[in-house]
Amino acid sequence: MKVDFYRHSLLPRHAEAVAAVLATPFLTTGKVAQAVEAQLAEYFSLPYALLVNSWTNGALAALLALDIGPGDEVIVPAMTFIASANVVELVGAKVVFADVDPSTLLLTPELAAKRVTRQTRAVIPVHLYGQMCDIPALRKMLESHPARSQRVCLIEDCAHCFEGERDGTKPGAHSDVAIFSFYATKNITCGEGGAIVTGEAELYQRMLETRVHGMSSGAIDRFAANRYNHWDMRRLGTKANLFDLLAALLPDQIATVDERLCHRRAIANRYRQAFAGGPLRSVTQLQCCKSAEHLFAIGVPNGMRDAAIAALNAAGVSVTVNYRSVPETTFYKKRYPAASAACQAAYGWGTETLSLPLYGSLSREEQDYVIQMVHDRVYPLAR
Ligand SMILES: *Cc1c(COP(=O)(O)O)cnc(C)c1O
Repeated sequence: MKVDFYRHSLLPRHAEAVAAVLATPFLTTGKVAQAVEAQLAEYFSLPYALLVNSWTNGALAALLALDIGPGDEVIVPAMTFIASANVVELVGAKVVFADVDPSTLLLTPELAAKRVTRQTRAVIPVHLYGQMCDIPALRKMLESHPARSQRVCLIEDCAHCFEGERDGTKPGAHSDVAIFSFYATKNITCGEGGAIVTGEAELYQRMLETRVHGMSSGAIDRFAANRYNHWDMRRLGTKANLFDLLAALLPDQIATVDERLCHRRAIANRYRQAFAGGPLRSVTQLQCCKSAEHLFAIGVPNGMRDAAIAALNAAGVSVTVNYRSVPETTFYKKRYPAASAACQAAYGWGTETLSLPLYGSLSREEQDYVIQMVHDRVYPLAR
């Protein structure tokens, strides 16, 4: 049998929504995007939401709006996708890698506290695989840290965690901004896209500008009331707006995300049950978290991870690695040579982990086959 790592679940009704936008003269960011932003604000019970064309560009718009740049430090967990760190380097600030908890792979207040200096301007906690970091505890730590010299912003990386909660609270409630990705494989997708939510009015106004070049008004406002309105540029921005053609794919997915999570959770729980008591390492599930179950990662000990990937691939099962430790990449190793050794938990998991197929259209037969192949071909390597 052949099992894909990922298949999207977009339906003919999603194609119709795109066709409806194509039938209008307006293709860029307009009424469709505005309606989705209202839907997002409601979903997260926050006053402001902005659609963006990727997590990465959204994070750049947020960092620019927060005036984070050269001379500033931003704390980023070593166990994440490279984008979480890259955006910091792209605005000229310095990434300071922090290690993660070895059982949850999440950044904790204790681990972040070790990296705070007078230069720290922000922390980017990553809700890895769908479980949320403790944002209120991070906030509390940052407010009382003896080394800090200024207010430290919290920017949540929610690329894995749209529908997750911790202590009954969704992303965005206790941070400055929370940023989501609608990249092709994420729980909600429009191919490439993302969103930012915030409760802070002033920051929202600044991000409206940094999302479109720094312009004081977007395309839809420049032609408001059927006349041309001049715009100004007060601060430097990037090009991060999501256009209506892609935004049209989102309303239905946002409306159904919670019922679709039940299905994802059932698949993840079947994996957990099937591997319980076996030789693989697993990620601890926190009682206080409702995970978005974005990825199902396992750890293969004994230095056998790559052998396990080869064995699964040979059996027709596609897998990925999420992730090798970011400071282990050539770029970051050169830039921050001491960082990797200081992040042992991230390094270790990065050498062991692989992710199994987890998506709505994964059939029971397909999952049974994946489980069988892990039992037959990976367990012997891990023992
Ligand atoms: C996917 C991902 C990103 C980047 O998202 P894009 O929309 O592709 O820019 C950032 N952080 C994490 C943890 C991710 O998984």
